[in-house]
Amino acid sequence: MPLLVMKFGGTSVADLSRIENAAKKVQAEVERGYDVIVIVSAMSGETNRLVGYVEGTSKLYDAREYDAVVASGENVTAGLMALRLQEMGIPARSWQGWQVPINTTSAHGSARFIDIPRANIDAKFAEGFKVAVVAGFQGLSAEGRITTLGRGGSDTTAVAFAAAFGAERCDIYTDVDGVYTTDPRIASKARKLDKIAFEEMLELASLGAKVLQTRSVELAMRYKVRLRVLSSFEDTDENSGTLVCDEDEIMESKVVSGVAYSRDEAKMTLVTVEDRPGVASAIFGPLADAGVNVDMIVQNISEKNYGSHPGAVTDMTFSVPTNQVARAQKAMEDARAAGLIKYDELIADTDVAKVSVVGIGMRSQVGVAAKMFKALAAENINIKVIATSEIKISVLIDRKYMELAVQALHDCFELDKA
Ligand code: ADP
Ligand code: ASP
Ligand code: MG
Repeated sequence: MPLLVMKFGGTSVADLSRIENAAKKVQAEVERGYDVIVIVSAMSGETNRLVGYVEGTSKLYDAREYDAVVASGENVTAGLMALRLQEMGIPARSWQGWQVPINTTSAHGSARFIDIPRANIDAKFAEGFKVAVVAGFQGLSAEGRITTLGRGGSDTTAVAFAAAFGAERCDIYTDVDGVYTTDPRIASKARKLDKIAFEEMLELASLGAKVLQTRSVELAMRYKVRLRVLSSFEDTDENSGTLVCDEDEIMESKVVSGVAYSRDEAKMTLVTVEDRPGVASAIFGPLADAGVNVDMIVQNISEKNYGSHPGAVTDMTFSVPTNQVARAQKAMEDARAAGLIKYDELIADTDVAKVSVVGIGMRSQVGVAAKMFKALAAENINIKVIATSEIKISVLIDRKYMELAVQALHDCFELDKA
């Protein structure tokens, strides 16, 4: 039997009628002759609610218990989806991560797949079941504990199942009808793309475009999964949505193909650290050990005397996800107490946002950064930190200018035009 993976995100399973609507999309594929693996998210808002319970109980919580709580949202929708399909006369069975089993690492809160043995689900298909409904976002560690894959992780569950079961396609059903040049919710001129290259989608996702979880794009790229994003609220066919594919399948090529933003970024500055060999390692080693995800890093030594510390001191600025600020602070305080580093002060600025432009055309084009900075200057937006790579440029700015910056950059690179 040919097999499809269909993933439904939170808004697509937000209540019983939406689950029914999603189930009809599954039914249509079953009627076309497919066996289907359905991956479901928790109902929209549910994971946030569960995270709130955990954070309301414990500030530096035990990640094993965080996972035990937050994984539960998907269990509910998996069971309900299987029931709805049964009501429609389609033999369906739900699966929680441990039942498959979906084997992952023990990195609670951001676990990675180790393997997904097919035997149990294949046996059910062989018995005549047409649909396996799998709870997204969760897995099982070697220690026998429930794990989760990080926010948005059901996308990654879907791609991993598509790879493990050799699915013809992995369809990600969501509340927008594809991948756009930027988030259509904040830029009305955003344009839907028919295709986007894996590399670009990877950057957009990792820079904040939450339409796909970054890791799902990585896996799709590695295992050559045909990955598509489409709407669960509209009528769809084989040509709907956006296909994420290899670069050479794409005709259109612009220098910049998308703008991404992330509100989930905090700027931290260690004031007056020593300027000597080994300092960066003494700072970022403990942060890594504490599981803090550092993104942008800036260090610049003033050639002039530095306040009351002439000579060998510097400031070290870096960005971390907002929910890791407390963890980062503790790691730095512990490192200072242990004598590993010296600093006067650690300043955390959580009123910032990161805005980025992405495009594989940047590899061969100069002047993209200059054009970007000019557009931001024209709006009087001050840039706090800059980071670049081969195919992206990111800036950290005051959060209140985030939407303005996204729109200005979308305009300046004329992304509304094909
Ligand atoms: P789901 O619950 O289905 O997983 P998400 O909320 O995680 O849905 O992702 C879909 C959302 O991603 C859209 O509603 C949209 O606001 C946002 N988004 C951000 N950037 C983009 C983009 N470039 N193209 C499409 N959607 C985007
Ligand atoms: N429910 C989880 C979340 O909100 C996983 C997902 O929806 O992909 O992050
Ligand atoms: Mg999502």
